[in-house]
Amino acid sequence: MSRVYNFSAGPAVLPEEVLKEAADEMMDYRGCGMSVMEMSHRSKVYDTIIKEAEQDLRDLMKIPDNYKVLFLQGGASQQFAAIPMNLMKNRKAGYIVTGQWAKKAYQEAKIYGEAVELASSADQTFSYIPDCSDLDIPDDLDYVYICENNTIYGTKYKTLPNTKGKTLVADVSSCFLSEPVDVEKYGVIYGGVQKNIGPAGVVIVIIREDLITDDVLPGTPTMLKYKIHADNDSLYNTPPCYGIYICGKVFKWLKKMGGLEVMKQRNIEKAQILYDFLDQSSLFKGTVRKEDRSLMNVPFVTGNDELDAKFVKEAKEAGFENLKGHRTVGGMRASIYNAMPKEGVEKLVAFMKKFEEENA
Ligand SMILES: *Cc1c(COP(=O)(O)O)cnc(C)c1O
Repeated sequence: MSRVYNFSAGPAVLPEEVLKEAADEMMDYRGCGMSVMEMSHRSKVYDTIIKEAEQDLRDLMKIPDNYKVLFLQGGASQQFAAIPMNLMKNRKAGYIVTGQWAKKAYQEAKIYGEAVELASSADQTFSYIPDCSDLDIPDDLDYVYICENNTIYGTKYKTLPNTKGKTLVADVSSCFLSEPVDVEKYGVIYGGVQKNIGPAGVVIVIIREDLITDDVLPGTPTMLKYKIHADNDSLYNTPPCYGIYICGKVFKWLKKMGGLEVMKQRNIEKAQILYDFLDQSSLFKGTVRKEDRSLMNVPFVTGNDELDAKFVKEAKEAGFENLKGHRTVGGMRASIYNAMPKEGVEKLVAFMKKFEEENA
């Protein structure tokens, strides 16, 4: 067996410990003679798996009791519709457009009501986070929507927008559990787990209870009603059972590592190694305004497309996978999620140094 350093933006690297444990339990989950993949989602054994997963997530994020945790399907992209369908009581919401995912959510919301672009960083290819301390927030907005960490462009909000009392909704797909968060500042926090938590197929929605109502837009499918899933503890229909089980293992791994404060320190340390190198490199350059840099997704370029391609190719040969930037932006991107060991980043930087010397 040989494992590479996987810098994929998602689906992405998972802790080896978790993969090994899942492998050990594959044929016979703790004496029940079957795999978690094969068991009823209504069984006692599975009930314990999903309840423990929820409790561990609650512990990690210190989720207050008046928030529900929902394990859903359809990816983050399905939430682009579910959010307006459930929350647009006045049919009007504000969107801060800081990248492709925020833009897609904004465009989807327009199907259901008036989506107001409150701010955007499109003018500089989404390389920064706009100042959101004093936005013009219309009084009748149902919520303000952000994408907190922009996976493709590598920016992250260091302070949350001043929503002037409006409910904040955040897509945290690519920064989920990367650092502590103050859940109470949000009405909804959600994300696909395949970036920083688990296998594709699970989306976690953390939502304040007063936002869960029967008063949804006409035509909202049953499966997109938060209330249905909340009332049924995410077991209205068959949930993505195996994915939730792996997420649960990752939550336990995070607890064992010391929790989100420790993860944040580790993530800062890891990202610093890469950013420090980029800042002094004569060949590679980061593409994001320094104060808005993501700890999770680090885009960089040489400024020469051919050299970029050569780098990606040679890096792959050396065991560093998935460093190609998003197809819409080119260049390179190293995603260094929780499960990427520090050693992986150090070795990548050593490889970049060597490449720089060889191509000076
Ligand atoms: C990947 C990603 C998405 C899309 O997730 P899907 O699960 O593929 O729908 C949405 N938002 C962000 C921030 C992402 O990184």
